[in-house]
Amino acid sequence: MSVSGFAGWLRDTLLRLAPHATATGLRAVGRPGPDSPVVLTGNYTLTVRRLVEALAGRDAWLLVADSRGINVWCAAGGGHLTHHDVIAVLRSSGVGERVRHRRLILPQLAATGIERRLVREATGWEPRWGPARLEDLPEFFDRHERPRKAQRAMRFPLWERLEMALMWAWPMALGAFLILTLAFGHRVATVGAGVIVLGVGAVFAGLPWLPVTGGRRWLMYGGLALVTLAAGGEGLLALGAARPAALAGLAATCALAAGILSLDLTGTTPWYPGTINSFRNHFDVELVEDRCTGAAECVQVCPREVLAMDGPRRKVVLARPGACIRCGACIVQCPEDALRFRFSDGRVVEPGTVRSTRVNLLGRRAVPLAAPPRTPS
Ligand code: SF4
Repeated sequence: MSVSGFAGWLRDTLLRLAPHATATGLRAVGRPGPDSPVVLTGNYTLTVRRLVEALAGRDAWLLVADSRGINVWCAAGGGHLTHHDVIAVLRSSGVGERVRHRRLILPQLAATGIERRLVREATGWEPRWGPARLEDLPEFFDRHERPRKAQRAMRFPLWERLEMALMWAWPMALGAFLILTLAFGHRVATVGAGVIVLGVGAVFAGLPWLPVTGGRRWLMYGGLALVTLAAGGEGLLALGAARPAALAGLAATCALAAGILSLDLTGTTPWYPGTINSFRNHFDVELVEDRCTGAAECVQVCPREVLAMDGPRRKVVLARPGACIRCGACIVQCPEDALRFRFSDGRVVEPGTVRSTRVNLLGRRAVPLAAPPRTPS
């Protein structure tokens, strides 16, 4: 990676929490011609940069839609990248005059916001879902625009978890440093900020093994607080801080760290479900089998391989329900409205509601619920 490339990566990673927009419209990667593929993405600087890198050595048209400078996953879930934005850029970019075909590759992670059927009906273009990850695009094209089954599944490797940790840790550590400096002085603040950086890094690095979701996550945070107290206390005493100030500062650090980590950070990833909104009243995806016609649109967009096709019956089945992150992509795309959310108290969220509600930054979906069903007396 060049120095300027590294500087751009660092800037975009550190500022990942904030929108960072690049120009929308049509771009050429390599020397595309009238038969070259058209790949759509949002106008988030980091995504566009990575997409261009992933397509290095290929000829393609890059169609950058207005996602308000937000990454595709968050923008689609949050209602900032929808079929309206896709239709707008198809009509305004002039791509139709540059190519002979009408095939459009959509990012699979945008399936929570872009209704493929509506793009087709409004424009005549034939949208199809690309792989879940950018680096799989070259193989996707080599396979005549058909992803392998495994390429529909999202992965969350260590280096990406650490990137995410960096994104969350530095503003949190900075805030903690300022608060602790005012209350206890710079020694306690330095140790406290360091503990928060290490704690967030450790949680993201250990995600595959830690009980990060559900009620058991409090055990993890309690353990983390104890380790923080022990290790940080030793560090402060070694630095010469007075024992009462060190202990008070560390207690405050623990409280700050627990508050930060309870923010349901995992709900911000495309790999773990957000748990805040289902803590008391859990909800799951429900398949209404009678409505399913086996179109399998849901299978194509699920990033966790929850859904599979039962070939002989021509029905979709919930093959791995425990892996569901409740993103709603399958519900948004099903042409028969055969999928929906059901809460543990029996209330259901119909597809129309899922299509029109947004997911916030922490993966929380503000779903208006109908009254619970009456039990017959
Ligand atoms: S089954 Fe779960 S993880 Fe898969 S698309 Fe549907 S809501 Fe998302």
